[in-house]
Amino acid sequence: MDTIFSQIVRGEVPVDVVYQDELVTAFRDIQPQAPTHIVIVPNKPIPTVADVTEADEPALGRLIRVAARLAEEDGIDKAGYRLILNCRAHGGQEVYHLHVHLLGGRPLGRMLADPE
Ligand code: 5GP
Repeated sequence: MDTIFSQIVRGEVPVDVVYQDELVTAFRDIQPQAPTHIVIVPNKPIPTVADVTEADEPALGRLIRVAARLAEEDGIDKAGYRLILNCRAHGGQEVYHLHVHLLGGRPLGRMLADPE
């Protein structure tokens, strides 16, 4: 399924791309939840974590290494940061193209919000 993230990977949507290679693309979130809020996606449109196959392991490994490098570039690596990967409805996933959120630049508080 073609999502907004596939369009971003192909350069069809104007976003602030901070990194791109043959496996992954990283861009700043349109609604940042912290001073640093970067979304990192595999270029291949994997819908959710549940759809990952062995063939995707190189892209997902790259995704983590790129997150660490971008944290360093944004100067948030020493203080620390959080990587979030939401899966399906209860996980709060809105875009069904697997992605990792890199968040930091302030204390991020408890890992989970209180249930509404
Ligand atoms: P999810 O809730 O699926 O884990 O996260 C989706 C994220 O994508 C949200 O934080 C949302 O703000 C971001 N997002 C959705 N559409 C766009 C867009 O067109 N541009 C950018 N830069 N971010 C987007």
